[in-house]
Amino acid sequence: MKKIYFDHNATTPVDPEVLDAMLPFLKEEFGNPSSIHWAGRNSRKAIEEGRDKVCRLLNCANLELIFTSSGTEGDNHAIKGVAYAKKEKGNHIITTKVEHPAVLNTCKHLAKDGFETTYLDVDSDGMIDLEVLKAAITPKTILISIMYANNETGVILPIKEIGDIAKARDVTFHTDAVQAAGKIPLDAQKLNVDLLTISGHKLYGPKGTGALFAKRGVRLVPLIHGGHHDRNRRGGTENVAGIAGLGKAAEIAMRDMEKESAQLSTLRNRIEKGLAEKIPHIKVNGHADKRLPNTANISFEFVEGESLLLNLDMKGIAASSGSACTSGSLEPSHVLLAMGLTHEMSHGSVRFSLGKSNTAGDVEYLIEIMPAIVERMRSMSPLYAGAK
Ligand SMILES: *Cc1c(COP(=O)(O)O)cnc(C)c1O
Repeated sequence: MKKIYFDHNATTPVDPEVLDAMLPFLKEEFGNPSSIHWAGRNSRKAIEEGRDKVCRLLNCANLELIFTSSGTEGDNHAIKGVAYAKKEKGNHIITTKVEHPAVLNTCKHLAKDGFETTYLDVDSDGMIDLEVLKAAITPKTILISIMYANNETGVILPIKEIGDIAKARDVTFHTDAVQAAGKIPLDAQKLNVDLLTISGHKLYGPKGTGALFAKRGVRLVPLIHGGHHDRNRRGGTENVAGIAGLGKAAEIAMRDMEKESAQLSTLRNRIEKGLAEKIPHIKVNGHADKRLPNTANISFEFVEGESLLLNLDMKGIAASSGSACTSGSLEPSHVLLAMGLTHEMSHGSVRFSLGKSNTAGDVEYLIEIMPAIVERMRSMSPLYAGAK
């Protein structure tokens, strides 16, 4: 059976060049990067080269990068790190209703320590209102954490404008850029962000790797206390192979981004148009232009998204509903609900997230098999009979 992977926002395969960059540090180059002797020297060098490459992707200085074990750790470190560092100044955090659970649940956890969070609404396009953001800032506001691009819909938020607002009000600004990194150009300097999270496995790097950009001068309480690694900001012997892989992934992303992004948006648009031509009662979710090139989020009315995914899986197609972290539970997507979709439409949504390996043939196969699957599922829905 044909196997087609349309779930790159959940994770990406490791690029063969990335694996090659990692292998020496899983084999003969085993030294501890903190050792001063010969065995450690190449490991140290690999970390610093990885750092250079990630910094080039983010346009930041080497001292401004902390390696992490995941995007989730980066988000935790940024949010808890600022909250604990600035707790004398205030206890108020602003975020949105459409963040990844790594941000939402960190803010929820901080409520136990007396921090209060405002969760901004989004409109039907998945956008926040900057005037509402401005009005939400109080003298107690210490942190704004707003994602760069949404993992479920691909919607890109106005990070530069948010950064300007945060700076004018002297509030620290963190962005979860896990889905943006590698897909669209990032520039930590121009964006006025203080903290920015990325994750390795979303850009063809290894799982269990990531980085947090922390602008010079931003105070951050460490999440992991230990030795003097990463300038005392994260204890623990570095994941040398992982960092070498993350660096290589960043380098490849810089090299290929433009070309790839044009290819992926062409395929994505074809999916949306092809399905809309053949299947009635569907809706593409998210802002029409301010969107990642690779992501299509589509609601199929009168269809249950999870069953649709199982049917696609039987045809060899991997896609997802909502975020990978919430699928498996039957909770409708918090992102789509925040955008005003009904429970039914949220339940009936599928995310196709494209990547390097996808071809026009993959897309045509999807467009070919989908109408019959949807029609068969709908024929079992009593609601559909009435709507037809
Ligand atoms: C995947 C993802 C994360 C979590 O990254 P991990 O490395 O899997 O922990 C955080 N935020 C967003 C937007 C994501 O898509």
